[in-house]
Amino acid sequence: MDYQEIIERVGEDVRAANCGGQVATYIPELGRVPADKFGIQLMTVEGDSFAYGDCDEPFSIQSISKVFLLTQALNAKGRTLWQRLRVEPSGDPFNSLVQLEYEQGIPRNPFINAGAIVVCDVLLALFDDPRKDFRDWMRRVTANPRLDYNERIAESERAHGYHNRAIANLMKAFGNIEHEVEAVLDFYFFACSIKLTCAELARAFLLYANHGRLLGSEESILSVRRTKRINALMQTCGLYDEAGEYAFRVGLPGKSGVGGGVAAVFPGKFSVAVWSPPLNPKGNSTAGILALERLTDLTGCSIF
Ligand code: GLN
Repeated sequence: MDYQEIIERVGEDVRAANCGGQVATYIPELGRVPADKFGIQLMTVEGDSFAYGDCDEPFSIQSISKVFLLTQALNAKGRTLWQRLRVEPSGDPFNSLVQLEYEQGIPRNPFINAGAIVVCDVLLALFDDPRKDFRDWMRRVTANPRLDYNERIAESERAHGYHNRAIANLMKAFGNIEHEVEAVLDFYFFACSIKLTCAELARAFLLYANHGRLLGSEESILSVRRTKRINALMQTCGLYDEAGEYAFRVGLPGKSGVGGGVAAVFPGKFSVAVWSPPLNPKGNSTAGILALERLTDLTGCSIF
């Protein structure tokens, strides 16, 4: 398959489609990112890489970090992790508080904010130096020893993070947050503000396309069984209350972030990362989803 030709066609189709959408402004620093950025990078499990557009420009991965956080928590805690959160789609927006009250502070899944905040609380108990340990792990899976976070974005989110504070406080009241709320949120905002290029994100996601193995190594970061579970969660919960429509249009396990990134995997074959900042009302990149839809249409590659 000529992936280069295909992703160039995807890129041109998406640019011509003028998908619309709004760059996120509820984190003011994110609102400064130019709306016309667009990049798509595909990487095969053999390590061949194909790029179109702004693939070497770092952007804030935001909620895509929830996949990496979950990977570490699941590796450390195994199935006991599921005593603190569940694995059901929420059908509600990523930052919703509604279910949390009547489900007594147990988040529906690790990819809504509440679930990721619980995962951060779990990791705080496990890591000596959570920011450093998480950053080092990210450096390893991206093969970029200089990878870091965007301090201005983390600070901007901290300064405007009333909603996430409400979520964390409600869970704390129900006894599902062990550490101080500010310490947990500080780590959560740090993870969300990690910046990656499409090339690095595709490389990190290759792990989920390749049964938990790092590129160019026989070493497994994640077992085959846990990789399956994380991919299942991406498929059912990765795009929040748009997970159904995303499955219908694309058909690849994926995760979005309000920075405009969407990363997805075709297990056994390839990973793909797209970046385009304008979002639809559900907080997912309009052009990102269209690009993945075109990709699966043109390649015929989908888990369905
Ligand atoms: N940091 C963002 C928040 O908590 C992440 C949300 C997202 O990317 N969907 O609101």
